[in-house]
Amino acid sequence: MYYIDIVGTCNLRCPSCPVGNYLPHDFMGLQRPKGFMKLALFEQILDKIKRENSDYKYIVIAIYNWGEPLLHPAFPKFIEAIRAREFYSDVSTNLNIKDIKPMVAASPNKLIISLSGYDMEVYSQTHKGGNPHLVVSNLYRLRYYMDRLKKDFPVELSYHLYRHNMGKDVEYIKFIANDLGFRFCSDYSYLMPLEKIWNI
Ligand code: SF4
Repeated sequence: MYYIDIVGTCNLRCPSCPVGNYLPHDFMGLQRPKGFMKLALFEQILDKIKRENSDYKYIVIAIYNWGEPLLHPAFPKFIEAIRAREFYSDVSTNLNIKDIKPMVAASPNKLIISLSGYDMEVYSQTHKGGNPHLVVSNLYRLRYYMDRLKKDFPVELSYHLYRHNMGKDVEYIKFIANDLGFRFCSDYSYLMPLEKIWNI
């Protein structure tokens, strides 16, 4: 499994994430590239992976880590490039995106949606800068487009657990996942980079 960030930034600022809690003096002046990866570079990387893993059948290319891949204007082409090499694509998004139809049409092999609440007050503490109303409406749109475009790929709602969001919000999101035929899973959140724990 290879993780390749195709976008070096995010539209949200989650305090537990190195993108969200980044400060200019972090990492001794070393900065991650912030732009959009060029498709040609991505294809070169995929070709190198293919060359070096000719024995392996199931190669997964995750086009996320610390960034929001759906911000990339050429996102569908990245999925196409992965499919063309017979690899599996894995995508994780915060789903604070206006138009998700191109992503559904591109049909990744797996889609993870990270979220941390249903109510604005709860969600916005940890998915800072995001809007749960947009996310929830997009979940219903996602089901609609998948049905309409006849796309069938696994969707996982990944609920990040914090002390403040373990109540009714979890139950609401579970209900939506069941209602729409998506998988629900939850995990405790952790702070990255770990060195920032000294500042708390
Ligand atoms: S949505 Fe993901 S990449 Fe964006 S700030 Fe939050 S944890 Fe980081």
